[in-house]
Amino acid sequence: MTFLEDKDRIFTNLYGFQSPGLDAARKRGDWDDTKKLLAMGQDAIVDAIKASGLRGRGGAGFPTGVKWSFMPKEPTPERPSYLVINADESEPGSCKDREILRHDPHKLLEGALVACFAMRASAAYIYIRGEYIREAQAMQAAIDEAYDAGLIGKNACKSGYDCDVYLHRGAGAYICGEETAMIESLEGKKGQPRLKPPFPAGAGLYGMPTTVNNVESIAVTPTILRRGAEWFSSFGRENNKGTKLFQISGHVERPCVVEEAMSIPFRDLIEKHCGGITGGWDNLLAVIPGGSSVPLVPAKDIMDCPMDFDGLREQGSGLGTAAIIVMDKSTDIVRAISRISYFYKHESCGQCTPCREGTGWMWRVMERLVTGQAEIEEIDMLHDVTKEVEGHTICALGDAAAWPIQGLIRHFRPELERRIRDYRGEAMLEAAE
Ligand code: SF4
Repeated sequence: MTFLEDKDRIFTNLYGFQSPGLDAARKRGDWDDTKKLLAMGQDAIVDAIKASGLRGRGGAGFPTGVKWSFMPKEPTPERPSYLVINADESEPGSCKDREILRHDPHKLLEGALVACFAMRASAAYIYIRGEYIREAQAMQAAIDEAYDAGLIGKNACKSGYDCDVYLHRGAGAYICGEETAMIESLEGKKGQPRLKPPFPAGAGLYGMPTTVNNVESIAVTPTILRRGAEWFSSFGRENNKGTKLFQISGHVERPCVVEEAMSIPFRDLIEKHCGGITGGWDNLLAVIPGGSSVPLVPAKDIMDCPMDFDGLREQGSGLGTAAIIVMDKSTDIVRAISRISYFYKHESCGQCTPCREGTGWMWRVMERLVTGQAEIEEIDMLHDVTKEVEGHTICALGDAAAWPIQGLIRHFRPELERRIRDYRGEAMLEAAE
């Protein structure tokens, strides 16, 4: 396995060793003749992003260039287009966008300008998670610097193109990371997902054509244009191209956020950047590879798995945001998944019955399964309920609540049954005594 070399890293200030300010950002190559990038023309930029194979880095993995191409080619003053940048990053385990926001904000800003130009959007709204206070300060400072330097705003980078950028702070609701809930929240309403269609590209923010993209997806675009689509697509496997920020937490020697080539095998990623699993590889129990909403993968299946969209789909899971939660054998796996169930119950917006009622129901059964105070038949019943919730709701939170439980039942059913039998055995012993 060849690892990503320093010369190929897009995020060269990921760890904040240098200033996030404009001067330092320029030295790192940001805002270097951005006018020339814009001179490529809208369609050529969209084509380059398509050719690079970039897929959305916010979890869904939809091809970014294709998404951009859905936007109107001729917006009018009465019907302008907008870009919304999703910096809500509320998925448990996810912590990559914050590193961009606080250490490399100009990379995101330049990407916002390029993306707005390519989609003929007149403004970008960065919706940032409310708890990201320092990140919001760094981002706002970068926006102010960029306005003062004429890089954004009227005649941005002397290109003749006008583009405003606004920073909007959320208030801490997980569901506002869903693109239509984010749009509602930006409009000043309660953050509840909208029924689709219409999709945001048809009627989004203030009813206007809108594209919602993740921070990382936008931040990599100027580098892709500068170095070429071919360079970006030289990393990773077919259909899983580029470099990616991986966030590894849990039972590894050195948890970290690191940029690596897509499709790196799990074992190599952990050995090279995290110093291995605590207690050694034999001590690995399971991994949640894409943020808490995806099903876990047991140790034997994840070891040599390529960390990309297709590799993890083949394991019945997903890459998500590449937030990798590693669990060794000291983990109470049933309790861990039950805690995740509680999170989704807590964050359900309550609009749809399967999610509002189902998340609470699933969590309550999970809590009983932790102690074994359940019937064996309830395991199948719980699985049935996850299937009734999955795919029957307005947004993907219902799926996010169902999948971790499905993964647990698929891979750790004997453990669930053991707890029930142990509890019964103890109860009978107590009764006999
Ligand atoms: Fe709200 Fe849940 Fe329905 Fe999503 S699935 S709209 S979070 S109730």
